[in-house]
Amino acid sequence: MEAGDFKDFAKAMTEYIAEYLENIRDRQVVPSVKPGYLRPLVPEQAPQQAEHWTAVMQDIERVVMSGVTHWHSPRFHAYFPTANSYPAIVADMLSGAIACIGFTWIASPACTELEVVMLDWLGQMLGLPESFLARSGGEAGGVIQGTASEATLVALLGAKAKTLFEVKAKHPEWADKDIIPKLVGYCNSQAHSSVERAGLLGGVLLRKVNPDSSRRLRGDTLRETIEEDVKNGLIPFYVVATLGTTSSCAFDALEEIGDVCREKDIWLHVDAAYAGSAFICPEYRYLMKGIEKADSFNFNPHKWMLVNFDCSAMWLKQPRWIVDAFNVDPLYLKHDQQGSAPDYRHWQIPLGRRFRALKLWFVLRLYGVENLQKHIRKHIALAHLYEKLCSADERFEIYEEVTMGLVCFRLKGNNEINEELLRNINGRGKIHLVPSKIDDVYFLRLAICSRFSEESDIHISWEEIRECADEVLKNHKK
Ligand code: PLP
Repeated sequence: MEAGDFKDFAKAMTEYIAEYLENIRDRQVVPSVKPGYLRPLVPEQAPQQAEHWTAVMQDIERVVMSGVTHWHSPRFHAYFPTANSYPAIVADMLSGAIACIGFTWIASPACTELEVVMLDWLGQMLGLPESFLARSGGEAGGVIQGTASEATLVALLGAKAKTLFEVKAKHPEWADKDIIPKLVGYCNSQAHSSVERAGLLGGVLLRKVNPDSSRRLRGDTLRETIEEDVKNGLIPFYVVATLGTTSSCAFDALEEIGDVCREKDIWLHVDAAYAGSAFICPEYRYLMKGIEKADSFNFNPHKWMLVNFDCSAMWLKQPRWIVDAFNVDPLYLKHDQQGSAPDYRHWQIPLGRRFRALKLWFVLRLYGVENLQKHIRKHIALAHLYEKLCSADERFEIYEEVTMGLVCFRLKGNNEINEELLRNINGRGKIHLVPSKIDDVYFLRLAICSRFSEESDIHISWEEIRECADEVLKNHKK
């Protein structure tokens, strides 16, 4: 493709994207296709001769959109949001054009340096302590990981390396094989499944600790569990505190957990994948009280801060435990400036990395902190609107406290009736929700996901849920 065609293609695509997004609420939120729907829609083999770009454009609705779940529709209330904005889309175009692989500083200095500065901007926006920021002049700083799951694993590997080093200093006669089976990490039993997975991938034991009745992991319970494990000869080395659990958006008691970790010198990682974006609004920072006691902190601007996937921001106070522990330094990756700027390949699992800081830069500049705060506050207000509508109907109950843009609710009654309610809601196809279960109680989660969501959309979703409840309850009376 030559530049002329590229310009026409990109213009047509820009037009298509804007139309798609601005009219997204008119589409059926989850497609009604069956597995295998796509193969018959495309040829058996790749074309031998080049096609014209207009032919590709013509196939987008038929082949792709017919099987797309529209995550940015105001009718989409499943999981947690994933972000989307025009500035981030345009930044991804530029990133695609530069197409550098920023594994070392010299591999593309702007790629590394913009990331360092953006993570400082972002850290200040959240009110993170200076001890996490590169501008403090020490080794601390931020990095963009692909996902929160990677951040949890990277922090675990750092904690493991640090503990191995420290234990060996005390017991020079011990080898890795004597220590690793004794290592144990901890998280709330409500923590995301990626925490347990990080334990499996990192080859260490990860214990799930029961939270209190508000689903918060508390310091006392953690301390008791740790002390019991120490008595049994284990070596506690890693704690993950969750700020905004996936099931019900509960917040672990970070300050209490931080005290335990500092007292016992255990690496504390904070997973605020979804809720972390809310800390750009000062009124929500009480939920991250104690953050200065953490060793690493992570949240996903790609969830709730209008930066398209993938952009998971992670800060480390002592990146040396990751940088040094996994340092393989082949000649072809060496450069003269080594040590004077981060070589981000050492801060992550893969070698290659895209120029992701661009989309952060574009979004922060083109929205400004003020509009990003408005976005967060609006989503939370919409969640409270839904909470109000739902609690005014005495057949329903709100299952957990609403603090962010997530409402957990259920019909009063048994799990079966709620399972039926959800089947009915998703079966009708107008809106989309997913359930969760805590202590064997099944409930529905309504997350405010779309940046296009307005109060009228929440009323539409509530009406749909109310009608589905009418149907389900009528069937039960028969
Ligand atoms: N941690 C929490 C609390 C989450 O809610 C999620 C996803 O929703 C994750 C981690 C995983 O995020 P990612 O897909 O970025 O790995």
